[in-house]
Amino acid sequence: MDGKSVAAQTKQTLREEAGYMKKVGVEPKIATILVGDDAPSKVYLASKHRVAEEIGIKSENHTLSGIAKEGEVAELIDSLNADPSVSGILLQLPLPQHLDGRRMIERISPAKDVDGLTSQNMGRLVYGQASLIPCTPRGVMGLLHFYKIPIAGQRAVIINRSALVGKPLFHLLLAEDATVTVCHSKSRDLLGITRQADILISAVGRRPQFSVTREMVREGAVVIDVAMNRIAGKLIGDVDFEGVSAKASYITPVPGGVGPMTVIMLMENTLVAAAKQNGLKEASVPIL
Ligand code: NAP
Repeated sequence: MDGKSVAAQTKQTLREEAGYMKKVGVEPKIATILVGDDAPSKVYLASKHRVAEEIGIKSENHTLSGIAKEGEVAELIDSLNADPSVSGILLQLPLPQHLDGRRMIERISPAKDVDGLTSQNMGRLVYGQASLIPCTPRGVMGLLHFYKIPIAGQRAVIINRSALVGKPLFHLLLAEDATVTVCHSKSRDLLGITRQADILISAVGRRPQFSVTREMVREGAVVIDVAMNRIAGKLIGDVDFEGVSAKASYITPVPGGVGPMTVIMLMENTLVAAAKQNGLKEASVPIL
């Protein structure tokens, strides 16, 4: 599954959508916040701003010092919440240890929460009413939809239970009638569970201690690798690509799989937020 190519195609559609919005007087804009100078965060943010520009979404970044107090971050979020020119706010994670990440995320107006991580948007997801859905799980669903992978009645196994990946993905797959199992570090007989998966999604990120091997995958399974491990400067996923691709019917590479889809879904969420804030009913996002 070529996430890079699916993301490029989706980007074109989002560009058209942004163009339409501009014609009717709506200027979508994403504001990002970086606290500190975490190097990978800077790389991810640069790519988000680049893709925003390519689509025609305005973007601005606000950098605070790594020793910024919670009050300073809260003040910035409040001012972006109140700024009508800002459609979406992204707080780049991880935050420095001294900040309460949960409290900072909750400060973001749910209408501008383009990461879909506030409890209000998470709650809506549980009730099947979310419009702003966490980007990585949305990206995974986008890939499944693009490749027309059957979901209803299929057995899906997710190795991850985080609020960023596993929990929202559980609800998205369940909403499309998959039978979903969520595994984590305390799961017993992981191999026995993963071998039953028609769709196997791994997001552990503990290479080399953990990897998804050929034995863990059933013949013909769809395997989606969300993880990003940096080993000797090289980006790799959880999945032993060579061994597993011989068995899987579909598989995502790392890089070039879920990563590009995550960025594109952030842009889709920004357009969704801008459309909602401006009462645009004709908007054709979401795309995938
Ligand atoms: P996380 O919070 O650390 O979650 C890791 C999950 O893996 C946890 O649920 C953990 O279980 C589970 N786990 C750890 N060791 C395990 C083992 N031996 N067997 C089974 N499960 C095990 O990380 P995250 O934020 O969700 O991110 C996960 C990975 O996805 C990372 O590599 C991250 O870089 C990547 N990611 C990629 C994108 C993208 O755009 N491609 C976006 C987000 C995240 P416990 O809950 O029991 O600890």
